Amino acid sequence: MELKDLYRDVILDHNRNPRNFGPLADASADVEGYNPLCGDRLKLHLRMADDRVADIRFEGEGCAISTASASLMTEAVKGRTRAEALDLFQRIHALLTDDAATDVETLGKLAALSGVREFPARVKCASLCWHTLASALESTSPEPLPAVSTE
Ligand code: ZN
Repeated sequence: MELKDLYRDVILDHNRNPRNFGPLADASADVEGYNPLCGDRLKLHLRMADDRVADIRFEGEGCAISTASASLMTEAVKGRTRAEALDLFQRIHALLTDDAATDVETLGKLAALSGVREFPARVKCASLCWHTLASALESTSPEPLPAVSTE
């Protein structure tokens, strides 16, 4: 199986069966994201405990790429510290926008998002949930976070 077929299968699977989809009780933050280019709407629910992502769920309606990206993201950041989650956000941002991003192998299933690079119009679909996550992490942070450099 070619790598790009594998990536496509991961995206299709997470779009068909999104993980961590639905409301979340006792959320520390509920943040909405909107991608006007495609019409993707996302509501992210985040519960922090001891500076870790204790739980994360999402709702909304979007295209296959935005739904799959949000599903993959919730799986990837659950249990991570705030700093680890922000670090992952920056790596995914580089993966989506920078052709020179090379550490794809260490990203596990998230590497499937690299396929989106071939479709520049869809990058915002894939990055929407990550930007929303960054807002949620910021809004729940006890102290200001270092500026995340994107764009
Ligand atoms: Zn979209």
